[in-house]
Amino acid sequence: MPKSTTVPRAEFGVCGGSGTLSLAFPAGLADARVTVIADRLVFDTPFGRSPAFTHFSVEGPDGIRHALAVKMHGWRRGIKRADASLQTFWVFHQAGVKKVLADGGVGSLNALLDPRDVVIPHDFIDLTMRQDIYVRGDHLLIMRQPICPDLARHLYLAASPHFSRIFRRGVYLVTDGPRFETVSEVDYMRRLGGDVIGQSLAPEVVLARDIGACYAGIYMVVNYAEGVVREWEHEELKAIFFDEAETIARCVLDVIAESDLHAACGCAELRKPSLLDLPEGDA
Ligand SMILES: [Zn+2]
Repeated sequence: MPKSTTVPRAEFGVCGGSGTLSLAFPAGLADARVTVIADRLVFDTPFGRSPAFTHFSVEGPDGIRHALAVKMHGWRRGIKRADASLQTFWVFHQAGVKKVLADGGVGSLNALLDPRDVVIPHDFIDLTMRQDIYVRGDHLLIMRQPICPDLARHLYLAASPHFSRIFRRGVYLVTDGPRFETVSEVDYMRRLGGDVIGQSLAPEVVLARDIGACYAGIYMVVNYAEGVVREWEHEELKAIFFDEAETIARCVLDVIAESDLHAACGCAELRKPSLLDLPEGDA
């Protein structure tokens, strides 16, 4: 894939996940508000060559907004997931991204949840083993309010007309993957306080704060975690991915078009200059 040199400016970064994977986002939506400016943009980053981005604009009530979108969180074969996230967020940082939106499929740890329920989490528990995940690393990142309440509210408003059950709160428990969990692991994770389980909210939410951007995501329950309610079915999981991708993608577009770029959400105050002034290590 040819590489691009200059990262375009964009207010929004989109980490597309399994929820929109079956769709060419955003062109596949044929939405009159959208203009695709460039596709398959790849950049060299300090963390290796980036995944491919789509640069597009969305016309909303307050004018034109620009966005850079990556598919499947930037994951590729042969690239560690943490590196893919670092590459993605280095590009977002260069672009001046201030709002990051994500989507994905999750399993239900909470027995109240069923497949096709939508969850907009307010918090997370990170059980991943990834280390040294930062693009800047020069700030103390406070996780009192990891998810932007304003972006989350806009996601809820966008999703409300389309889904019968949407939860505005929930704890997303993050695992390394790519495998699913055992019954005993799920029992343990449920007792830790997770409502849904997935592999993508961290490190993205942390990297968003690292670059000074707000973050929120919309996640569809695609299966019961092992040992919760009943055995899940692969056919149902596949059907959900294909049935719901377009609706989830439209919700993300609505938020790009309509959310407040200057909301008093408080996210910026949760990032303070680091007190740790560490010397550079010898490479
Ligand atoms: Zn915010």
